[in-house]
Amino acid sequence: KETFECPPNAQELGRATWTYLHSVAAYYPENPTKKQQKDMESFLRIFSEFYPCKPCSKYLVKELKENPPQVQSKSAFGIWVCQLHNEVNARLGKPIFDCSKVDERWRTGPPNGFCD
Ligand code: FAD
Repeated sequence: KETFECPPNAQELGRATWTYLHSVAAYYPENPTKKQQKDMESFLRIFSEFYPCKPCSKYLVKELKENPPQVQSKSAFGIWVCQLHNEVNARLGKPIFDCSKVDERWRTGPPNGFCD
């Protein structure tokens, strides 16, 4: 019998997108070249334009204009993505994440080495 997988809803798409964006930030170079900085700015602009959730895309395009990405270093970029996510969390009534824990959450894992 054939089974059908459903397309993602805004929540599933959002979770996958945040996983991707925080992971990109967690593996961004410590000291990016000028070209890498420019490329990241272009990537985010194009990414926001084609994000396949209309209200999310509109928000992201506006946010990128009002609060340009901080692409000058890995730590600045990681915090910028974290703050962007927190803006969305606040708008949706979700808990605010502690941005000092961003590397632990998305790259290194907890100090005791155990994940849930
Ligand atoms: P998510 O918010 O998807 O978070 C996933 C995990 O990220 C969390 O479990 C936590 O471990 C970690 N995390 C949480 N906050 C942070 C942070 N600040 N920094 C680092 N890690 C963090 N949904 C809507 O319904 N309406 C919208 O308008 C909307 N706009 C969106 C705009 C963008 C750009 C994106 C990417 C998503 C948007 N979404 C929107 C989806 C929404 O943000 C959530 O992804 C979705 O509601 C699922 O939420 P969640 O509770 O599974 O956790």
